Amino acid sequence: MADRLPTGIASVDALLGGGLETDSVTEIYGEGGSGKTLFCLDVAARVARSGRWVFYVDTEGVSVDRLRAIAGEDLERLLKRVLVSTPKSLEEQGRAVATADALARDRKRPVGLIVVDSATFYYRLSLSGSDEDEARQALSLEVADLVVTALETPVPVVLTNQVWRNPREGTLEPLGGSFLNHAAKTILWFDRLPGPRRRAVLVKHRSLPEGAAEFRITSTGLEGPLPPDRSATSAPPARERT
Ligand code: ATP
Ligand code: MG
Repeated sequence: MADRLPTGIASVDALLGGGLETDSVTEIYGEGGSGKTLFCLDVAARVARSGRWVFYVDTEGVSVDRLRAIAGEDLERLLKRVLVSTPKSLEEQGRAVATADALARDRKRPVGLIVVDSATFYYRLSLSGSDEDEARQALSLEVADLVVTALETPVPVVLTNQVWRNPREGTLEPLGGSFLNHAAKTILWFDRLPGPRRRAVLVKHRSLPEGAAEFRITSTGLEGPLPPDRSATSAPPARERT
């Protein structure tokens, strides 16, 4: 069984059989406000606290402020270990990911996590434009390199992904084309519930059944004290919105 990086969110760790797989890419998709960024920052802070390095590719340019809320007085110490890159184009994102790959592979520092949040922000901007095919290819190559990095090093990779509404089915679907969704061995969908409650739905995993776990957003990060009831959630709920 693949090694796991615990996220520290008990319900999600139970859903994932202990945490994020360290030899593969995990994709998290969901609507705006579903908690993708908070999840990545929470896990990044946990990895940094353990003394390992995090390479965080942040296309939204908001991580440091948000990390402050999670880290509190630890911020300065954690920032020494969380290397944040804020690319301004898909090309710059590709270069940032290549740097993350190199850092993880040269093993000079104990890298514990690579995050790309969001992997599809710049890709989305290219959709329906003349450069859509080129952008899809660039994203695919970047993700392929991350797959190899995760496989060849003990460093887990987390990608976040935005959603589009499938008008025919009335469902929310992840962006990025089928390549991204094949490349990720674990796929989580974060669904918004009322107030601070969120639900992580395990849509795909190579060795675990589908299921779901609840967690909530607090002022200092994410909490998910209750283990999921697998028997009640053996199939993911329909991704329908009203
Ligand atoms: P996007 O796709 O827009 O990047 P996201 O999935 O990354 O969204 P986050 O930014 O992680 O979402 O989550 C922000 C959510 O957290 C918002 O819904 C916000 O209202 C909520 N939130 C932030 N702080 C708190 C808090 N202290 N208590 C409850 N909810 C909070
Ligand atoms: Mg976000």
